[in-house]
Amino acid sequence: MQPLAIHADRLLTPFEDIVDGVVVVQGSKIIEAGPRGRVVLPRGARQITARGKTIVPGFVDVHIHGAGGRDVMAGNAESLEIVAGTVARFGTTSFVATTVTASLMETCDSVGGIARFMLKSSETAARELSAEILGIHFEGPFISKARRGVHPQEWILAPSTEVLAQLLQEARGTAQILTLAPELPGALDLIAAAREAGLVVSLGHTDANYEQAQAAIAAGATHAAHVFNAMRPFSHRGTGVIGAVMTSPRVSAELIADKVHVDEPAMRMLLEMKTPERVILVSDGTSATGMPDGKYQLGNFQVKVSGGVCRNAEGKLAGSTLTLDRALRNIVAMGVPLASALRMVTANPARQIGLGSRKGVLAPGADADLVFLDDKLEVAGVMTRGAGFDQA
Ligand SMILES: [Zn+2]
Repeated sequence: MQPLAIHADRLLTPFEDIVDGVVVVQGSKIIEAGPRGRVVLPRGARQITARGKTIVPGFVDVHIHGAGGRDVMAGNAESLEIVAGTVARFGTTSFVATTVTASLMETCDSVGGIARFMLKSSETAARELSAEILGIHFEGPFISKARRGVHPQEWILAPSTEVLAQLLQEARGTAQILTLAPELPGALDLIAAAREAGLVVSLGHTDANYEQAQAAIAAGATHAAHVFNAMRPFSHRGTGVIGAVMTSPRVSAELIADKVHVDEPAMRMLLEMKTPERVILVSDGTSATGMPDGKYQLGNFQVKVSGGVCRNAEGKLAGSTLTLDRALRNIVAMGVPLASALRMVTANPARQIGLGSRKGVLAPGADADLVFLDDKLEVAGVMTRGAGFDQA
């Protein structure tokens, strides 16, 4: 396959800021990325120039439920392809398909479907613009009834290693993240079992106090789902799970940076406390992402979208219509340097799920997942594993 050399005004790898750079792609992989003067182009390489653009790694979303009118819980190839195709247009080139709490039977069906789709698509190289599904994030069923948000109460379960084993069996090696409430009886045993199975354990939809959250972190939890949302609130004499997450350096914090879920001063506190290395921007996107206002499904319940904000029948926030390109612009608009903000949608999420050398980075051997940003940080072009891109 003929190598493709793409020249651009700037590359953000995101660890290095390179002026006048070139990314060389062969098939689905990056084979070289660096300053124009230092990269030796392979013989016969086709060359194109992305004038006025910055090339950055494709975004990695570790918490997303759907897009383009489809929910990942549908679990069928058609729906998953629509979700993957929709988010790719906004620069998300890979994601972790996230379940919502549903009956165990329904969850098993969804997980089985997603796993089947993933294992099948890994055999065939994508030829169109389409994000890669990297695994499954279980949001529930082991969450707090007091902090369930819009997750249906009737399907919430007490922590159970047997139920987890059942979910893992359906997932056939594709499970990545388990979000749970650590204060529930049996949660520490569940954390041990999840760690044993290689999952990232995430604190979320939780009413945990500081001590309970610390115990979970000591037991191996390293992640926190959409921090501030669906958590016991912070108080100076009862700092709760937020206090534990903020002061534990090895815990990464998800943030829904749509300016609706979390107010700007709280976002600033999180960025200061966790540093750009430990913040992961997520969309928590629903099927309404990339669609006009209206009524949509989230798992097996309906949400209403008005002005781009998703709420359920009770008026509770129900996920978002956020895309990671917008999240990135929102963070940069707060004064955060682009290179730092970029880590929060690329290298940080990729590293958290153990894919730091394949995703979220412009480097030899990484997947050719590229986003071309214009000077307003709008997405001007996207490449997914070498496909779907002609001219920036
Ligand atoms: Zn949630």
